Amino acid sequence: MAFYKQEVLEVTHWNDTLFSFKTTRPEGLKFHNGHFVMLGLEVEGKPLMRAYSIASANYAEHLEFLSIKVPNGPLTSRLQHLQKNDSILLGMKPVVTLVIHDLTPAKNLYLFATGTGLAPFMSIIRDFETFERFDKIILVHGVRYVSELAYYDYLLTELTEDEYIGDMVKEKLIYYPTVTRESFKNQGRLTDLITNGKLCSDVGLEPLNSETDRAMICGSPSMLKDTCKILDNLGFKASAHTGDVSDYVIERSFVEK
Ligand SMILES: Cc1cc2nc3c(=O)[nH]c(=O)nc-3n(C[C@H](O)[C@H](O)[C@H](O)COP(=O)(O)OP(=O)(O)OC[C@H]3O[C@@H](n4cnc5c(N)ncnc54)[C@H](O)[C@@H]3O)c2cc1C
Repeated sequence: MAFYKQEVLEVTHWNDTLFSFKTTRPEGLKFHNGHFVMLGLEVEGKPLMRAYSIASANYAEHLEFLSIKVPNGPLTSRLQHLQKNDSILLGMKPVVTLVIHDLTPAKNLYLFATGTGLAPFMSIIRDFETFERFDKIILVHGVRYVSELAYYDYLLTELTEDEYIGDMVKEKLIYYPTVTRESFKNQGRLTDLITNGKLCSDVGLEPLNSETDRAMICGSPSMLKDTCKILDNLGFKASAHTGDVSDYVIERSFVEK
């Protein structure tokens, strides 16, 4: 596969474990919101590449990524030192996993993310079509510590003031961050908040229902497994493969070793 050099435009460190960065966008790179690409660095003359969800919307001029900093991680131990004007390598073939076209029509869209699983949803919540297709979009981001709530201020204020989608965001997007290991306005594991009914009651919606609701899930393998089980028990139909239209879709944002 061919990789193309792109320039880093901006780097934001959210805390010791998370950072995001913007890069130039290659001409001709087309993708749907929710796609991922291969991204990396040249190490000892060879490309060292990993899968990354694109966090920016497909109409944006730049590309944006949210990344973990894995201690001793082959790529991220290097990638975390990126500076403005540095180069990264980018694959030119975005891959489909988490797209709203794979969901059957319904009223509400729940986006369940833990950690860097937020990344693909950052593009999906900036997509006009998401707002056209659903009455309410509920973005649930579960993390351990408050400092891991990347984009918190952006999601609460800046996005609502966006000149193109701000009005739709105000009317339709409900952002629900939740923290497990320190005190915060919303506390607890995302899966517990679904099963004990607190999430739906906090956001003022009826309990999760396969007739009215759809879901997309992205995060750690254990969260994916538990959330799928909850949805399956509620009668939601999972997609068997990409392109299969169903009640919910999942993406493995990383694999635990
Ligand atoms: C479809 C897909 C999309 C992905 N999108 C993203 C993304 O948007 N942002 C991102 O940071 N990573 C993402 N990843 C993970 C990414 O590909 C790399 O694994 C990550 O960048 C770490 O690379 P590494 O070489 O430093 O360590 P690796 O050798 O790849 O990983 C080492 C270990 O670190 C842990 N780990 C890896 N990634 C994460 C993570 N994101 N959160 C918590 N623990 C992790 C796992 O236990 C893994 O076994 C995605 C993976 C897949 C398959």
